[in-house]
Amino acid sequence: MIRTATLELATAGNGQVIDITDAMQGVLYGTQLQHGIATVFCPSATSAVTTIEYESGAVRDFQRLFDEIVPPDGEYLHNQQRGDDNGHSHVRAALLGPSLTVPFSDGRLTLGTWQRVVYVDFDTRPRQRRLVVQIIGE
Ligand code: ZN
Repeated sequence: MIRTATLELATAGNGQVIDITDAMQGVLYGTQLQHGIATVFCPSATSAVTTIEYESGAVRDFQRLFDEIVPPDGEYLHNQQRGDDNGHSHVRAALLGPSLTVPFSDGRLTLGTWQRVVYVDFDTRPRQRRLVVQIIGE
């Protein structure tokens, strides 16, 4: 059986990290499926998903890493050619990736104790986002 749902998020942008684990698990509960895989996908060129221990130190370390390797004030052809300001947002999103698949068993995501699914909005302004959650299972 396949179920597809959406998650709506109001984000602040600029590398904001949002814990979407409970929302994803909530979609899964609603399906009453017991075993399978759940994918979350962001249809966006400036945001991404991953997992992390969701505490302020780890989240800040994660954000700081992107400031170091893809700095906002770097030179980006995207900004020059398109008159845009989010060249770094696109590169960051491409690096991290737009989707994540988590197996579930007995109706629960098989995440580690401290492992949380997070959505990261790298764009340079607040956005209204819609994520796709697709669940394949039985
Ligand atoms: Zn752009």
